[in-house]
Amino acid sequence: MRESSNGHPQDAHEESTDQLTFQDPVTRYPVLEPPKQDQPEPGLDRDLVPRTDRGEFSYRGTGRLEGRKALITGADSGIGAAVAIAFAKEGADVALNYLPAEEPDAQYVKGVVETAGRKAVLLPGDLSDRDVCETLVRDAVDGLGGLDILVNNAGKQIAVERLEDLDDEQLTATFTVNIIAMFRITKAALQHLPAGSSIINTTSIQAYQPSPDLLDYASTKAAINNFTKGLGQQLAPRGIRVNAVAPGPFWTPLQVSGGQPKEALPEFGTSTPLGRAGQPTELAPAYVFLASPESSYVIGETLNVNGGSPSP
Ligand code: NAD
Ligand code: MG
Repeated sequence: MRESSNGHPQDAHEESTDQLTFQDPVTRYPVLEPPKQDQPEPGLDRDLVPRTDRGEFSYRGTGRLEGRKALITGADSGIGAAVAIAFAKEGADVALNYLPAEEPDAQYVKGVVETAGRKAVLLPGDLSDRDVCETLVRDAVDGLGGLDILVNNAGKQIAVERLEDLDDEQLTATFTVNIIAMFRITKAALQHLPAGSSIINTTSIQAYQPSPDLLDYASTKAAINNFTKGLGQQLAPRGIRVNAVAPGPFWTPLQVSGGQPKEALPEFGTSTPLGRAGQPTELAPAYVFLASPESSYVIGETLNVNGGSPSP
């Protein structure tokens, strides 16, 4: 495989058409044929086979977030990386949070953001630490010179077949990273967010269709939906909009680092009406829409981006 200047293998999607070109969603991307693979948690996009499209070449910006300042958690890889890249191409500066072990992926995203002519502030830190949730917001505000978009996207997903085998450590960690950190970061951010700001939480189709082996994870996603609808009402009078995006099956490192049983990977995403898994950049326009002023009357909404699976 060819290497790009930043040491990452060259992207398989370099030739993809952009998101604004009329095209068939069935064939926009091929059905994945991922080999069985396993990465320690957290996985790296760098080592994912096949590679994903995070919009490096395929996302076309149209100036919808000009001058905006966004903090995105879990921004080194997968969905968060696609959001960071799209935001930058739409004119925003971005602060990226991720785990220290994910530095190579974060550096890659930083390179793409800078190529788009925007600023990328790298803020590694473990969100299961309460203090990190607060310092992260402060550092983002310092690095960006303010804050008007918060994307709570970091998430932990480890499949466990039987409840008896779900140990207390995982249970607590999943709830701490997925929902408690979301409360803490959002609370810390509020004092900095001017009217017009947008908060976007990544939830999941698992909030309504829980898989039997994702009890802890799916419960946190249901909580995120509820948090989003409640907080949306609380903050609307202050001019801050809160919404969520609920992805279906997207090909990201989370899936190969314990998120799915290994046997399930070759079939990943094929049971959706569209017949294939999503590529991370296919989620980016939903976040851009909810972040931009064009969604001024959209509050407490969960935008489902899932290849056609019915959802409430
Ligand atoms: P991903 O592995 O690329 O991203 C998850 C990120 O969460 C990691 O990159 C990591 O930086 C961050 N994270 C995990 N634990 C952390 C911790 N303790 N401290 C700080 N950061 C931490 O996978 P993804 O699929 O892009 O996941 C992003 C979000 O999308 C998650 O909330 C996930 O639940 C959600 N989601 C994904 C899918 C899917 O099919 N991929 C479907 C529905 C929802
Ligand atoms: Mg990652």
